Amino acid sequence: MGENTGKCLCGDVTFQVTGEPVMQGNCHCNDCKKNTGAAFATILFFKDEQVNVLSGETSSFQYIADSGNKKTKEFCSKCGSLVYGINTGRPGIKSIYIGVLDDGSFASPQFNVYTTRALPFVPIDAVCIRISSA
Ligand SMILES: [Zn+2]
Ligand SMILES: [Zn+2]
Repeated sequence: MGENTGKCLCGDVTFQVTGEPVMQGNCHCNDCKKNTGAAFATILFFKDEQVNVLSGETSSFQYIADSGNKKTKEFCSKCGSLVYGINTGRPGIKSIYIGVLDDGSFASPQFNVYTTRALPFVPIDAVCIRISSA
């Protein structure tokens, strides 16, 4: 895909991602529901060096995930859009929710995780691998 740009809701924080995501999937866990306010999250994972914040200021919030890993969310200090996440269980990787990219149409989620927590009305693509918990 080459390069892709993204921005938060207010436009202060802009960033660029380069190259293909190392992994991409849909997550139905409760953390993702709380983080996004949505029914599930499509997450793209990139190596740190693939992600460049170009402008704006982020604030961070840390919490302990179900897995016991420490997670950090970096969000726009002004509008609160989640820009990327860091997980101590995945060193060197940033997770980006697809909605902050300007064009997420290239993505092709490979798996669904925490499908046991998927809301009943959410269709799960049959070609995706289902993982009930991870
Ligand atoms: Zn913003
Ligand atoms: Zn999740």
